[in-house]
Amino acid sequence: MSATEYHKLLGIGPTAFDGLADHLEERDYEGRTYRHVPDARRGVERGTVLIEGTVVRGFPKVPRTLVLETGIPEGFDARTVAVEEKLNGYNVRIARVDGELLAFSRSGIVCPFTTRIVERDLALEGLFEAHPEAMVCGEMIGPENPYTAHEYDGIDSIAFRAFDWRDRVTGHPLPVEERRRRYDRFAVPQAPSLGTFDRDEAAGEVRRIVDELDAQDREGVVMKSPDATTQLKYTTSAANRGDLAYAFSLPFEYGRSFVFRRLIREAFQSVEWDESTDEAAARAHDLGEAILLSMCETIETIDAGGVAGKEHTVRASGETIDALLEHLRGQGLAVDVLEDRTEDGDRVVTFRKPSRSTTDRTENYLEGQVVRE
Ligand code: ATP
Ligand code: MG
Repeated sequence: MSATEYHKLLGIGPTAFDGLADHLEERDYEGRTYRHVPDARRGVERGTVLIEGTVVRGFPKVPRTLVLETGIPEGFDARTVAVEEKLNGYNVRIARVDGELLAFSRSGIVCPFTTRIVERDLALEGLFEAHPEAMVCGEMIGPENPYTAHEYDGIDSIAFRAFDWRDRVTGHPLPVEERRRRYDRFAVPQAPSLGTFDRDEAAGEVRRIVDELDAQDREGVVMKSPDATTQLKYTTSAANRGDLAYAFSLPFEYGRSFVFRRLIREAFQSVEWDESTDEAAARAHDLGEAILLSMCETIETIDAGGVAGKEHTVRASGETIDALLEHLRGQGLAVDVLEDRTEDGDRVVTFRKPSRSTTDRTENYLEGQVVRE
């Protein structure tokens, strides 16, 4: 398709499209060439894909509030807000392009693994027959997950949960209620709905919900205007700690800003929730443990001759696992397979994404390298 037609689909001028075209990345998926927007550009969402003469819009960035009481009225014009659980996994958009179902990552790369899991686990034919332009947006969650593994009660492997339904080309969402009804009708599992509240009372309700989610080590909430065009996220202390523990288990991998932002969230939550000295001290203690203990564990691992890196286990057909490993390696990622076995007809593989910089620097420090700082 010519640039002229793509720019119309994207709703931008030809000059803007020319500017965008320089930043598109070209990739290939099983014989199909496509281009995607790796970073937000010229009003076009990151992750937007140009493929076979059509467009698959990126999923919009979800803004965050640090303070519920003021952030909710500031973030929403609508009279009510719908609150949904924010699930901790990885974002996926599913679309049917040229009769073929494809699952796209946040940045707009076709993930061969997710595409196969979706085909295996979800019956989306009816949905796409009735709504060929649909973009099914959701989170892949659960422990057997190659990107973001997290335990959820009742989920023993990988699972999809829908949280949005958009027009593939325009990116326009269905209103929350209608979307929930539609997914129910097509038997697609969804992120839990936690209620709809009056905007001016939502802060208190969300506070109560977040307390419960926190106690269960869940990530948080995404609040949405009833028409689903405005979203706002807020996370639990457990999620902030989990992120910090993860980052500090690979201390030379994660940027300072990643860590810093999460510490700031903790401070604002502590103050907004008017914690007593004891409560604030307990929070500080938990935070310190998340940071320090995970870092110590990594140093101990390396001291014992091990390697730093995140381990993942995946369970699927042999072909699906091969497609995943090839995809990861194709992106330049080192992958060490630690265990590869067959269980009930599936291949179960545990692999590590080794972190060279953390391993090397930790080794150097352990060997006494002197630092000037
Ligand atoms: P961004 O802020 O750009 O969206 P991020 O990597 O910082 O990306 P998160 O902090 O995880 O992402 O928050 C936004 C993401 O939360 C969404 O992109 C989506 O994948 C995920 N998510 C989980 N549950 C929901 C939900 N119920 N509604 C909307 N998004 C959800
Ligand atoms: Mg997330």
